[in-house]
Amino acid sequence: MSKAPLVIVGSGPAGYTAAIYAARAGLEPVVIAGSVTAGGGLINTTEVENFPGFPEGILGPELMDRMRDQALRFGAKVIYEDAVDLRLDGATKQVVTGEGTAWGTSAVIIATGSEYRQLGLESERRLAGHGVSYCATCDGPFFRGKPIIVVGGGDSAVGEALFLARFGSSVTVVHRRGELRASAILAERAAAHPTIDFLWHSTVSDIVGDGSVSAIQVADTRSGEERLVEAAGVFVAIGHNPRSELVAGQLPLDADGYIVTHHPSSRTDVPGVFACGDVVDRFYRQAITAAASGCVAANDAQEYLAELRTEATLAASTV
Ligand code: NAP
Repeated sequence: MSKAPLVIVGSGPAGYTAAIYAARAGLEPVVIAGSVTAGGGLINTTEVENFPGFPEGILGPELMDRMRDQALRFGAKVIYEDAVDLRLDGATKQVVTGEGTAWGTSAVIIATGSEYRQLGLESERRLAGHGVSYCATCDGPFFRGKPIIVVGGGDSAVGEALFLARFGSSVTVVHRRGELRASAILAERAAAHPTIDFLWHSTVSDIVGDGSVSAIQVADTRSGEERLVEAAGVFVAIGHNPRSELVAGQLPLDADGYIVTHHPSSRTDVPGVFACGDVVDRFYRQAITAAASGCVAANDAQEYLAELRTEATLAASTV
C-alpha cells in the first residue's frame, strides 16, 4: 500500500485549492485527480469572467491548469486515476484507484464535485453522443449551420446558448417556466441575441431521431399540448447532482445526496474525513466558492493531523 498523510479526491477548484494549501503547509498531499475528468467541470467551460484576479477573463481549462501547477509547485502529487473505492473508518483510511493502487492515509478530503443532471428520457440515453450532449464547448462545433436546442433556464443553459449561437443556424432555449433563473447579465445578452429564441413553459417529452437527433417533442406545461421542433443538437443544461456515490453509507448525505458537513467547517461525522466544493454546496456552486471551501478543508485537515501528532507524542512520552 502507498502511504500519504493526506489524500484529496477530486481536482476541481476545491480539490486543487485544498492541495495548494496543504502542500504549502508541508502535508505532501496526494490528489486523485481522475483519469478523464481531471480539472473538474471547468474543463468543459469557455471563458470564466468572474474569477477574481483575471480582469480580462480566463478560459476554464487554463484556470484549472494554473491551479494544478500551483499545487505541484509546493509539492503536491497529482495522480491521474479515478478513485473507485474509499474506506473511511478507522485511523488509517484507504483510497483505491481504478489502476488498483491503494493509498493508506490519516486524512481524506472529498472534493468529487457534481455531474450533469439528465432529463431521464430513454431517447436521451439512446441518442447521447448522437446529437444529445451535456457540454457545449466539447460538442458545439459539430452543429455548425444546424438547429440547436438548449434545455434549462439557469446560467449553464444561457451560457451554453450564447456559446452555441456561434455555430447553430438557430438556438432555442426550452425552459419549463416563464422566466429564467440565470443571472441578469447573461439573460440580457441572450434576449438581445438575434440567433437565440426561447420556448417558455415547455418541457422536452421526447427526443426524436433514428441514429441521430432530428427533432424534439415539446410539451406546453400549461395546456399539455405537444409539438415537434426540428433539432440536430440537444444540449441538456438543467443543473448538476453531487457525486457522492463513493461515500454513500459511510458519510451522512442529505436527501439530494450532498455530503453533510459541520458547517462552517468541512468536517464530516467521520474523524479525519473532510468534504468541500460542489459535493457539499447546493447553493452557490461557483468556482470561487468551491476554491474557498477547499482552503477551509485543507486548514481543517492540517489541524486534525496536528492533533494526531500531538496525541502520538503524548502517548509516546507516557510509555
Ligand atoms: P441551476 O441554476 O440549478 O439551473 C438549472 C435549470 O434547469 C433551472 O432553470 C431549472 O428550472 C432547470 N431544470 C432543472 N431540472 C429540470 C428538469 N428535470 N427538466 C427541465 N428543466 C430542469 O443550474 P446551472 O445553470 O447548471 O447552474 C448551477 C450553478 O452554477 C449556479 O449557481 C450558477 O450560477 C453557476 N454557474 C455560473 C456560471 C457563470 O457564468 N457565472 C455559469 C454556469 C453555472 P427552474 O428554473 O424551473 O428550477
